[in-house]
Amino acid sequence: MIVVFSMMAVLWGIGVAMGAPRQARWTMIGLLLVAVLMVQVVLPDGHPLREATGGSPAIWLLLAGFAAVIWLYRAGLRRVRQRAEAVQGTAAETEEPGRFGEVELSRYARHVVLREIGGPGQKRLKEARVLVVGAGGLGSPALLYLAAAGVGTIGVIDGDEVEGTNLQRQVIHADARIGMPKVFSAEAAMRGINPFITVRPYNRRLTEDIAEELLAEYDLVLDGSDNFETRYLVNRAAAARGVPVVGAALTQWEGQISVWDPARGAPCYACIFPEAPDPALAPDCAEAGVLGPLPGVLGTMMAVETVKLVTGAGESLRGRMLIYDALYAETRSIALKRREDCPVCGGLPKDA
Ligand SMILES: [Zn+2]
Repeated sequence: MIVVFSMMAVLWGIGVAMGAPRQARWTMIGLLLVAVLMVQVVLPDGHPLREATGGSPAIWLLLAGFAAVIWLYRAGLRRVRQRAEAVQGTAAETEEPGRFGEVELSRYARHVVLREIGGPGQKRLKEARVLVVGAGGLGSPALLYLAAAGVGTIGVIDGDEVEGTNLQRQVIHADARIGMPKVFSAEAAMRGINPFITVRPYNRRLTEDIAEELLAEYDLVLDGSDNFETRYLVNRAAAARGVPVVGAALTQWEGQISVWDPARGAPCYACIFPEAPDPALAPDCAEAGVLGPLPGVLGTMMAVETVKLVTGAGESLRGRMLIYDALYAETRSIALKRREDCPVCGGLPKDA
């Protein structure tokens, strides 16, 4: 018997020295055991080789039986572990809508401990449906932070494709996604951050014929558009539907942000800017240039206002406009009033 055990040890040693995988080493030892069993069964009683390897097959059968039990036990354990890992991997898809699972709850733990948000606020964020118009400079940080914050349904509408000149400031996109429609590039980035949210990409420009119908599906709109035509369209459709708009705009080194909400007593965009400026006086980013991090500041503020409006935390920018001058590092906040004769919201009750 000692001979067989020494042979096993030598085989194992050779396996280790040659760097053979564990499984191969066990296979060699298994083959040796089979050979010994053959010797015990085939050779006649009293044969010297049979005597040298134990003299009886019983002891080897017992040993093989033990080995088989241990192997089966380990294989069973491995299967259970694999199944547990598979279940964890798909937790994002299988958790009940409207309720937080363990993984999701720990994701939002820093929100839940905030007194102004807490568990109920985080639940409101999960149930919120927010539409972001434009996946450009302002939309980029806004979309990223809304996704990270756990806003449950995020729509994004934009008809452009990612271009190299966008990447100086539109941080949701990537060099590898140049040429891809912006809404799909944004969707990929948002899903990468948070698999627990629903993203609805609309690869088209917002137009008059779909605006009201689309806005009706959302509780809140973020206007990060880069042209006056879209801005006035968003304002009209949102006022008609009673949906608040978190709107921001940029020029070179300065940005402004407000919450347009005539249905709740605040002015709409047209109350303050009744007419679009002459295009010669208001050049766009391509002509005038814009500081890269500036849309980052304003777009992030849009996400902040959105979280506040959804959860009811603090005081929103309803009826106020915040102006940020990046060049001189100054901020100002000015009070805004609704205009009685506003062509868009003039017909709405003054205080709702
Ligand atoms: Zn108005």
